[in-house]
Parts: sequence; C-alpha cells; structure tokens
Amino acid sequence: MLADHTLLLSSLRKELKKKHRDQGMLAILIIGLEGVTKLDGVMGYQAGDQLQQQVTERLKSALRETDIFGFIGREELGCILPSLTSEGHATLAAYKILRILEQSFMIEDRQVVVNVSLGMAYYPEHGNDADILMKHANVAMHNAKRNKTGLSIFSIEHDLFSQLQLEIQAGLNGAIQDNELFLHYQPQLNLHTRQIDAAETLLRWNLPNRGAIPPADILAVAENTGMISLLTGWVLNTALRQQANFNRAGLDLNISVNFSARNLMEPELPEFVDQTLRTWNVPPDKITVEITESAMIEDEKRALNTLLKLKDIGVKLSIDDFGTGYASMTYLRKLPVDEIKVDVSFVRSMLTVKGDERIVRSIIALGHNFDLEVVAEGVEDRQTLERLVDLGCDRVQGYYLGSPVPEEEFIKHVSLYNFNKPSKGVA
Ligand code: C2E
Ligand code: CA
Ligand code: CA
Repeated sequence: MLADHTLLLSSLRKELKKKHRDQGMLAILIIGLEGVTKLDGVMGYQAGDQLQQQVTERLKSALRETDIFGFIGREELGCILPSLTSEGHATLAAYKILRILEQSFMIEDRQVVVNVSLGMAYYPEHGNDADILMKHANVAMHNAKRNKTGLSIFSIEHDLFSQLQLEIQAGLNGAIQDNELFLHYQPQLNLHTRQIDAAETLLRWNLPNRGAIPPADILAVAENTGMISLLTGWVLNTALRQQANFNRAGLDLNISVNFSARNLMEPELPEFVDQTLRTWNVPPDKITVEITESAMIEDEKRALNTLLKLKDIGVKLSIDDFGTGYASMTYLRKLPVDEIKVDVSFVRSMLTVKGDERIVRSIIALGHNFDLEVVAEGVEDRQTLERLVDLGCDRVQGYYLGSPVPEEEFIKHVSLYNFNKPSKGVA
C-alpha cells in the first residue's frame, strides 16, 4: 500500500532498477476517480473515506500480490504493475480495474457510482525514468477523462495536447486582461417570422504559432484553474456591449451566452449579471443563458438556486445539447427554462437516420408540451431546414444559415438576410 505521491515515485524507482537489470517491462497506471470529493461535500468526509476504503478493498482482491497501489490524492490512485509479460497483459489488467471500480458502491445505504478514468504508460516504451512515466500516465488519465473513454494509453499526441493546455494556462489571464479574446456571433433564424432574431456568442482565441484554439480546451483550462468566472465575466460583458452596438445598427436581437457548470456554483453570479445588464442598458429578456445538463450534476441544489435567481432577474434560460445527457427530463421538471436546443448530433443525421428524425420530432413535441421554444442546432442544408419547418421547430442555427463570424460581418449578414427575406419563404 502506498500513502502518497512520493512513495509511489520511490517504489517506481525501485521497480525500474530491477527492470533495468532483467530487461522486463512494467506498467504504471494512474486511476482518476470522480465522486469522492462530491461525497465529502454531500455526506461528509467519513463517507469519502469509506469510499476510498472500498476502492482499496476491491483493488486488493483484483490485483496480484506483487502489484503496488494506493491513493496519491483524494480522487487519484497510482498503481504499478511490475510483473507483466506483454502490453496486452497490461491492458487486460487495466480493464479489469475499470470494470470493478465502475460497479456501484454502497455508502451509508446510498448507492454511489464513481466516474473512473485510467491512464497507463509502459516502461520502456514511454520512458525510462520514474518521473517521466508518472507524468505520461497522468497525461493519459486526463485524456481518458476528457474523452470519457475509461482507459487511455499514453501517446505522444496526448503530450502535445497537455503542452497546449500549459500554454493556455500561461496565457489566458493576460489574454482576458488585454482583450485578446474575441467573440463570434452565429445567427438563429426564427421559422415563424423567417427573420434572424437571435444570435449565439461563441468564444474565440488565437495563440501565436498555434492559430485558433478550440473553445472547449480554453474552457477546460479555465474551469480547472479557477479562471472561469473571470472568463465568463468577460464574455458576458463583451456580448452585452456588442448588443448595444447591434441595436445601434438597427438589429433587434436576442443574444445567447454559454455558461459553464462551474459558473452556477458562484453565489455572486446573478448579481454580476444584473449589474452588467444595467451597465449596457440591455433588457434582461434580450439575453439567454445556455447551460448544459452537466451543470445540474455537479451540485444540484446550488445550480438550481443560481438559475432561479437568474430567472428572477428576467433573463431567459436555455438547455443546450438537449437529449445527450441523462438529466434532460429532470431539468424540465425542476427549472423554469424557456428554450431547449436539440443537439447537433441528432439534427445532422435526421434525414438519413430514421431514429434520429424520431428523436428530433419527439424533442420538439416534448418542448412544446412544456411551452418552450425549440431550437435545432447544426442545420447544414436546406432539406434539413425544411424538414424542421414541417416538424414545427421554432428556430434553427447552423452553417446553412451562417457560421459564427466577427461582429461586422455578422451585422452585414443579418441586415442583408432580413432585408431580402421579408417574412415569406424559408431561407
Ligand atoms: P455549443 O454551445 O453547442 O456551440 C455550438 C457549436 O457548434 C459551436 O462550436 C459552433 O461553431 C458549432 N456549429 C455551429 N453550426 C454548426 C453546424 O451547422 N454544424 C456543426 N457540425 N457545428 C456547428 P464552437 O464554437 O467550437 O464551440 C464549441 C463549444 O464550446 C460550444 O458548444 C460551447 O459548449 C463551448 N463554448 C463556446 N463559447 C463559449 C463561452 O463563451 N462560454 C462557455 N461556457 N462555453 C463556450
Ligand atoms: Ca451553446
Ligand atoms: Ca449545443
């Protein structure tokens, strides 16, 4: 049994010395568990401790005598598999660990499921040195977590990705301060009026030598480093200032802003939103806050509380990527939402996959039963748009109507579109 990070490293060094001598292979695994700290928060530390203990017992029964493992953080274990004959052998062991940890635990009469992500690196293939191997296993674990693959084996692309994350981390704060970030605006077409009456704001950032950085990567770093509230604050402020400009250009648009799950954990958020609306003199019902289902999973009570306060201010609420998570229905029951956005994964294939068309149709009916507006995302062609009109969808967004673009281009596009299509015909 190990107790911490330093012990894992020294055990790994010892094992590596033996391997240098007998020329065998070895695997190092980092096991990430998501759920312990949540349990700490909800049921108290003793519950988190119990979970750790049960994890340890399961691993003991699944691993060999010679394997070395233990917690190296509240939600992280290290594991050395020193008696391996092949990489296939290591993968089998890793999958076995994944299987036994993915089964639910009973903690004080409550069934608890943890999210497990395994990262694995091999000696000698992925490094000779204990520090490097640990680092590589850790990078692989984060890759498994990000892609929700359960197990990930280190590869050099992961390392390049983690370098990108470091660059984002190093530059983000300055980029926010120096206004190097910018927003793109993507139009939404109202299918009843046939006018563009709304836009979603999407975050953009170009790094020197790297070009455009995917917003998901920026957000992941911002969430993990505590910069998310600064970032969202910047986005909201910029979007509302821009909305005042749209107004000046004669465009009366609702603007959607994406909030991340972490934002809803901040008690000051509603006050900040209220202040920013006042600063730019934007009526609250002219902005829509988009959230995904994961927002509720983290800490339902707090998230709900924040959302209710936002609703009190008068902003609209939208559930993004609707249908992709398991909490969709819970949202509708508990939240005063105004809109749902049918996820792009269903819309893109709705003409070719019968099941997907049925899903889109059902989501539209469901939304309408709750008196919500239904927006379809990812509309890339005219046929899909026409089918959505037939299905009674309220609004559409997608490359067919316009990609996300900078403000000047957006203003030109919308002015031209709305002028040329005075409430007749579709697109
Ligand atoms: P999302 O909110 O679901 O945004 C829609 C994504 O779909 C955007 O990707 C957009 O460029 C893309 N898209 C638009 N039309 C089409 C289409 O016709 N087909 C396809 N295949 N895709 C289309 P983008 O800009 O890369 O943003 C990715 C995600 O990053 C967003 O997904 C959102 O979750 C997040 N994000 C972006 N900006 C922000 C932000 O300011 N704050 C937060 N919290 N999240 C943001
Ligand atoms: Ca969105
Ligand atoms: Ca979406």
